[in-house]
Amino acid sequence: MATLSIRTQQRNQLIDITDQVARLVAQSDAKEGLALVYVPHTTAAVTINENADPDVVHDILLTLNELLPHLRAGYRHAEGNSDAHVKTSLVGPSLTVPIEKGKLALGTWQGIYFCEFDGPRARKCLVKIIA
Ligand code: ZN
Repeated sequence: MATLSIRTQQRNQLIDITDQVARLVAQSDAKEGLALVYVPHTTAAVTINENADPDVVHDILLTLNELLPHLRAGYRHAEGNSDAHVKTSLVGPSLTVPIEKGKLALGTWQGIYFCEFDGPRARKCLVKIIA
């Protein structure tokens, strides 16, 4: 198991970690298998989406922030970050990406994004290559 250390800079931020995961796959010598990408936090997640047009990431965050405002009447959690917990559950803690011919079998426009919802913080993302 490898650990990526990620320093986020904003409260809500998507960080492209595709190259870091691809490097771990290359180093593993796995030709066929799976890359498990797992985020061990309750206010950060991981997703796959377009990494060609940065406006897509902008629009994903815009939509999540409209759906789940930071402060809202009715939240009970005293830490004041309930929006981050809900975003994390909606987006999810893990991904499984196929490995074919020694490479991540991502689509042409797909990238892997670490999703910060309560930054800035020092975060971890675990990557397990299953050959
Ligand atoms: Zn909390």
